[in-house]
Amino acid sequence: EQTHIGWQLDNSYSRLPEIFYSTFSVNPVPAPKLVLFNKALAAQLGLNPTQLTSEEGIAILAGNAVPVGSTPLAQAYAGHQFGNFTMLGDGRALLLGEQLTPAGKRVDIQLKGSGRTAYSRGGDGRAALRPMLREYLISEAMHGLGIPTTRSLAVVETGEMVRRETPLPGAIMTRIADSHLRVGTFQYAARFAEKEELKTLADYTIERHFPHILNGENRYLTFFREVIQRQAALIAKWQLVGFVHGVMNTDNMAISGETIDYGPCAFMNSFDPKTVFSSIDTQGRYAYGNQPMIAGWNLARFGESLLPLLHDTPEEAVSIAQAELSKYIGLFEHNWLAGMRQKLGIFNSEEEDSALVEELLNLMHQYEADYTNTFRALTFNKLEESELVNANEFKAWHSSWQARLDRQDETLEQSHQLMRDNNPAIIPRNHRVEEALEAAEFRGDYSVLHKLLAVLANPYAHSSEQEAYTEPPEPMSGPYQTFCG
Ligand code: AMP
Ligand code: MG
Ligand code: MG
Repeated sequence: EQTHIGWQLDNSYSRLPEIFYSTFSVNPVPAPKLVLFNKALAAQLGLNPTQLTSEEGIAILAGNAVPVGSTPLAQAYAGHQFGNFTMLGDGRALLLGEQLTPAGKRVDIQLKGSGRTAYSRGGDGRAALRPMLREYLISEAMHGLGIPTTRSLAVVETGEMVRRETPLPGAIMTRIADSHLRVGTFQYAARFAEKEELKTLADYTIERHFPHILNGENRYLTFFREVIQRQAALIAKWQLVGFVHGVMNTDNMAISGETIDYGPCAFMNSFDPKTVFSSIDTQGRYAYGNQPMIAGWNLARFGESLLPLLHDTPEEAVSIAQAELSKYIGLFEHNWLAGMRQKLGIFNSEEEDSALVEELLNLMHQYEADYTNTFRALTFNKLEESELVNANEFKAWHSSWQARLDRQDETLEQSHQLMRDNNPAIIPRNHRVEEALEAAEFRGDYSVLHKLLAVLANPYAHSSEQEAYTEPPEPMSGPYQTFCG
């Protein structure tokens, strides 16, 4: 009967050497209840929304039944957590397999919160409802913003409490990803596997994500280059919308270039490079302004794990890797500046553009101006009275910006359109996120969350329903803190 659901599962990961995963046994939950479901995504995956939300379908989303063609497995990986290397792995997640979509894509289907695995260490393998709802919401918002990300198909309440500081309702999320291959997967291979196995992993990853380089020369160096390019593109997009990941450990960096592992992430309000939300990031290692540098640090760890494949002589391998890695920050800056030009309605490039952008950001920082709303106000030429707007330096900046727009061939109307397309009306404001999660968790009221998801699905629409969601939080409400799930 499951055939009606539309599963087209393969398990290419299970054909990798055994050291890379462990197969699992079922961890059923008592009373699965579907609370969030992404109908549009299900359809894209070739899964029938009606069948998948039937009792039989929900049993699969709860980990109580296994879909046809699946060999559920937990992936092994290691990683640097806040700079310290450690063995990790899917301690509370299971890869059901790879769905072959009607459009010809191969995507991972993973349950998160599905119970203990070989890599759980002291953990219970479970997840609390609230962080799963949070991941669903923020990842879908990122997708709406046009940022590569894992997607969220469903959240099922388990009917079981999980033990945290206090007992909390448990849940399982179904996550969709181009893959769950991480920098940490390669660190694991380099540290614990044979060179042949590392090579097999690299070849597998290349075939899956970079098939165009399969037959080229220096394949592993090109692989490193492609991963660097994707991260340089991804992190620039994060910076441009003010996204703070919060826990950029090497195990939370996907080789595919997707944003992955939404824990204590949040969006910046007033512009400040030091913005940190995560309660455990006491040193600010993963602050907004550090993200580009940290991605470079993570890529260095990735490069180290590829060394045996880059050259037979270790010293040669190191210098090859370093030469490649040194291009990262320039690539990031290039992408970031290109994005900033778009946010300011600029089509061509001039030498002084980067100074123009820096000056605006410095003023926003100095006057604690809201990052998203300042760009939005510039887009719609609706600068309201504020300390920033009243400042003479800002008036001077505004004139140079207008002069800059006058120096290009495109019309002001074209600039306005470019800005509309690149400055979101809304981001998942922290107080809105919490309000939606509270209603769901404490009152079982999902309507607030559904509304928020709907307006965040199309943040560049600049529609009237979005207006109510543009307010930054009250400055009085104190620093916003996020916690790991
Ligand atoms: P994360 O903070 O989600 O990136 O997870 C870091 C590591 O801790 C990963 O290896 C997870 O699988 C593991 N982990 C997190 N929560 C649990 C849990 N409740 N039970 C077992 N392992 C967990
Ligand atoms: Mg993780
Ligand atoms: Mg995780």
